[in-house]
Amino acid sequence: MNSTFLFTENSDTKSGDDDGPRREALRNLRFGAAPTSHMASVVFNREFGWHDPRIVPFGAFKISPMSRALHYGQGIFEGMKVYRSPDGSLAAFRPDLHAARFARSAERMAMPPLPQELFIGAVDALLAVDGTWVPEGRGSALYMRPFMFATEEALGFRPSDQYQFCLFGSPAGTYYDGPPSIRVWVTREFTRAALGGTGAAKCIGNYGGSLLAHTQAVAAGCDQALWLDAVEHEFVEELGGMNVLALFKMAGRAVLVTPPTSGTILDGVTRSTLLDLAGELDLVVEQRPLRLDEVQAGADSGELLEMYACGTAVGLTSIVEVKDGDRISVVGDGQPGPVARMLRERLLDVQHGYSTDHADWRHGVGAVAAW
Ligand code: PMP
Repeated sequence: MNSTFLFTENSDTKSGDDDGPRREALRNLRFGAAPTSHMASVVFNREFGWHDPRIVPFGAFKISPMSRALHYGQGIFEGMKVYRSPDGSLAAFRPDLHAARFARSAERMAMPPLPQELFIGAVDALLAVDGTWVPEGRGSALYMRPFMFATEEALGFRPSDQYQFCLFGSPAGTYYDGPPSIRVWVTREFTRAALGGTGAAKCIGNYGGSLLAHTQAVAAGCDQALWLDAVEHEFVEELGGMNVLALFKMAGRAVLVTPPTSGTILDGVTRSTLLDLAGELDLVVEQRPLRLDEVQAGADSGELLEMYACGTAVGLTSIVEVKDGDRISVVGDGQPGPVARMLRERLLDVQHGYSTDHADWRHGVGAVAAW
């Protein structure tokens, strides 16, 4: 397998032509608004396996109306970030975990897993040409979107023989404007995932199926829908694109509780990073089923101290209100708490390399000027 990415410029896109969009994107950081000027591409077919790794100008795909992804939903993606360190060097945060999850998602969707070497090779190769798109500033980063979809042109229910992998980036500041807190709305009409389903995979259908509840949450004056388990509708699972953690006061100690990744929720990289960091900060960490009524009773009694949503895009944000029909549970005093601040700062220290701890979580790609 050749994992050297060939750099291919179009005759009409000479280096330097894209500097206006880049400068504008860095001046006005809005999540997901502007793509890097290049993208990585690798294709798969049955004869050659994964082959033809390239860096090409960012641009449209030509897709046949018969492409299998459009009909049978074989599509998966990842979201990861590349941070600028205080010395100007760049590092992707835990790309090995994202590559492994991408491979697990592929397997669940009967797609050929992309070897880790090509996944990380694509990140390195893209940053070699578009490293100047990584913004400066704590909390800002280049969001990277690896994805893969079925391209074989044929109808009929079976896995595709051909696939396209692609990776592009987009400079990102904070995910939410305003104070670092959100309100969540419990969806009781819909469920996101059941055991044996695709909840643990980052497949595109999971997001399509979640959007209606998300719009209802927004209509109810909240930021995100909170998903419950599909069987009893009593246990907190996660949000549409973030994991959930709750900090309780129990027998005089602060205990951080988060639902286990037992098949119906996404195994978040930020979640597992925060669990490690929380343990180092001497919080007791419990991965166990979390009942919604435990959250609600804790908000009433004051034993629920803080609550968080976490993910690559958002980092860590505080959940300050849980709305379940007419019942509104205010978490703590309705403001982000001190532990949220401490965990968020610690997370940013490690992601940006302000702290030398956990250097193995950062995949360095060398110094790239930020002009
Ligand atoms: N749950 C879902 C459904 C998500 O889409 C995401 C974002 N990838 C997360 C949780 C958080 O995962 P991570 O920390 O790896 O971004």
